Amino acid sequence: MAALIGILAGDGIGPEVTAEAVRVLQAIGTRHSHKFEFREGLIGGAAIDATGSAFPADTRQLCAAADAVLLGAVGGPKWSSPDAPVRPEQGLLDMRAAMAVYANLRPVVTHPSLYASSPLKPERLAGVDILVIRELTGGIYFGRKERTDTSATDVCTYSRPEIERVLRMAGRLAMQRRRKVTSVDKANVLETSRLWRSVAVELYAREFPGLQVEHLLVDAAAMHLLSRASDFDVIVTENMFGDILTDEASMLTGSLGMLPSAALGDGKQGLYEPIHGSAPDIAGQGKANPCGTILSAAMLLRHSLGLEAEAQRIETAVLAAIEGGQRTADIAVPGHAPVSTRAMGDAILSRIATG
Ligand code: NAD
Repeated sequence: MAALIGILAGDGIGPEVTAEAVRVLQAIGTRHSHKFEFREGLIGGAAIDATGSAFPADTRQLCAAADAVLLGAVGGPKWSSPDAPVRPEQGLLDMRAAMAVYANLRPVVTHPSLYASSPLKPERLAGVDILVIRELTGGIYFGRKERTDTSATDVCTYSRPEIERVLRMAGRLAMQRRRKVTSVDKANVLETSRLWRSVAVELYAREFPGLQVEHLLVDAAAMHLLSRASDFDVIVTENMFGDILTDEASMLTGSLGMLPSAALGDGKQGLYEPIHGSAPDIAGQGKANPCGTILSAAMLLRHSLGLEAEAQRIETAVLAAIEGGQRTADIAVPGHAPVSTRAMGDAILSRIATG
């Protein structure tokens, strides 16, 4: 098959981790005779430096034309002054809105070979296989913002259709898994959450009679994610709660550097990125774990291009490399020297060639 893949490396460790994911996609293309065309675009701080905009017109066009987009990360201290006229993260929000990708899929799966990298006890990690679905284009991140010398306001708004479409996607995906959805809100305090809860109750009863549905307040969910993570199947929640809960959940897998994500709308096109940020503390040092980005490339093949076997080949290769002892510093086994970003990519590539 032929596909145009937009590559937005971004800032900090973004270029380092996307370079490894592109090498993996090239290897898959060669092995399975697919014609992947990679076209690069600017996003975030790199785009601000070059054009003054965090999401320039050329990148907008690339995102419209591509079958799928793979992103590294944006942001960094250089662009983080409170008075900065434009911030790198605004580029991400604009891109998600332009691509109408309203649901962010974040799988959280634990592996025994990484238990030692997690701060949690192994018995809390066994059998964890969660798909968190975070609403991505609504809520407080997109609401009206105001700032005076003495006060600041961020407005949180959700409409019924915005809630319905993401709950529906969660329901559909749960029916292909263990048929359980946990809807997370703060319905005891927030009006948007009360609407979210009532829509969830109605929609799941009406459209998914075979689905087991649980409602949790976000504070309780934060606790249950650490105490009974293996009970969860699909978790669906609004934008900010999902952002925070998935960073917390990343600790189950051992490192923020391991987790991939897919942002999807109604069509096949999608935006794929690791859940971590630009990690300025380790940027340019060859220390970044590329697995989250490489696993995002696997999700790209699965969800946008329909290449399930190729996606699984990447996932198997990543796991085999880790089990074989190839570990970047964030997941290194005590007493063993960590490998570089490039060496981690090499270890995965060699398993793709032979697997
Ligand atoms: P971060 O995710 O960049 O880093 C948090 C910690 O995790 C750091 O210690 C970092 O070294 C480590 N880490 C992250 N990714 C790693 C990887 N692949 N391998 C090894 N270690 C890794 O979060 P932060 O420090 O809070 O934010 C840094 C910048 O990134 C900020 O400007 C923030 O706005 C931005 N950010 C961007 C995105 C995105 O592009 N989607 C997401 C979150 C944060």
